Amino acid sequence: MDFNLTEEHIMIRDAARDFAQTELLPGVIERDNTQTFPDSLVRKMGELGFMGIMVDPKYGGSGMDAISYVLIMEELSKIDASASVMVSVNNSLVCYGLEAFGTEEQKQKYLSKLATGEVIGAFCLSEPEAGSDATSQKTTAIDMGDHYILNGTKNWITNGGRADVYLVIAQTDRDKGHRGINAFIVEKGMPGFDIGPKEDKLGIRGSDTHTLQFNDVKVPKENRIGEDGFGFKFAMKTLSGGRIGIAAQALGIASGAYELALKYSKERKAFGTEISNHQAIAFKLADMATEIEAARMLVMKAAWDKDQGNNYDMSSAMAKLYASQVAMTHTVEAVQIHGGNGFVKEYHVERLMRDAKITQIYEGTSEIQKIVISRGILKD
Ligand SMILES: Cc1cc2nc3c(=O)[nH]c(=O)nc-3n(C[C@H](O)[C@H](O)[C@H](O)COP(=O)(O)OP(=O)(O)OC[C@H]3O[C@@H](n4cnc5c(N)ncnc54)[C@H](O)[C@@H]3O)c2cc1C
Repeated sequence: MDFNLTEEHIMIRDAARDFAQTELLPGVIERDNTQTFPDSLVRKMGELGFMGIMVDPKYGGSGMDAISYVLIMEELSKIDASASVMVSVNNSLVCYGLEAFGTEEQKQKYLSKLATGEVIGAFCLSEPEAGSDATSQKTTAIDMGDHYILNGTKNWITNGGRADVYLVIAQTDRDKGHRGINAFIVEKGMPGFDIGPKEDKLGIRGSDTHTLQFNDVKVPKENRIGEDGFGFKFAMKTLSGGRIGIAAQALGIASGAYELALKYSKERKAFGTEISNHQAIAFKLADMATEIEAARMLVMKAAWDKDQGNNYDMSSAMAKLYASQVAMTHTVEAVQIHGGNGFVKEYHVERLMRDAKITQIYEGTSEIQKIVISRGILKD
């Protein structure tokens, strides 16, 4: 067992760290206030290869491994979790979904642009009445021979307004239950496809989240991903990898808050000494450092499983469950260590605390991760 990063991994991590510090940090508070994220930053992330990290270079990707992916995700998330969720959805839900299960034509047409960041993708599974219970799809895709007709509503869609390519899950044959669900590639601008207003959120406010409406949208048959009825399996398989990305996001939010709290505790004085000299504060830092390291091990293990070709359903669920809990607990503690300064935007920790919460909700809530883990350990 080797816990050391390779020289290449260190270079990748440092490049992401440098980008986060020089490009993401300036303006992060304003982007959170205004709920915006400029195209110029998305383009830069594309130029650095962050939008198609694990995609084969023959489709325009960076051809890196999952360890590189989580290193990049952690560094971006320390500074701006709105940037990292865009990266995570594009990489592990959209690019991975197309590369692993798409036809050669679909890869040529869509993947090569998505992997370079020329266009951005969105993954559309959730509906007003189908969140955790994703099998209750109300969106329908009626088979019309050479095309499908799509009707329904998707909500909470990350990159919902910004994306050009949408992977949409819909029910074709209700009698077949989850085996009657399909996944489709839908393009922005297809007649009948409408994008609702942006959600006003607690955290990741720079990420654009929308409700989408499909009214008799004609989707060519060649835009279906996989065999007829593969849609639910497609969603579960892509989400399993997505959870590695969100676990790494949670890890980054936690470690970003920890680094700020550590620095502050060595500068701020109370009762004639730096607050880090008070054991109550030092013990908080000790708990943070320990639990963040434990989360990092789980995240790395899940990424390693993916790189080895092992099944990563359990390890990704464990990593997401634990890292998101660590992010929530320790961003609250980081605010506490900052005292009153923790409560204002200038010190960044209040934003990280707000951003942490979503990691316990999307790509499967913490309760759903426990269902995945308990089923895994009880199945034999
Ligand atoms: C900012 C944001 C971005 C998102 N991005 C996307 C996206 O890009 N694409 C997409 O498809 N979706 C996206 N989502 C949706 C997200 O995945 C869902 O919100 C999530 O899966 C939970 O579904 P729900 O909100 O319907 O909650 P519900 O399923 O209604 O759950 C409510 C509560 O009940 C609990 N619960 C439900 N069932 C069980 C059970 N069997 N046992 C125990 N507890 C249970 C849940 O854990 C939760 O605590 C996003 C959501 C947000 C807020």
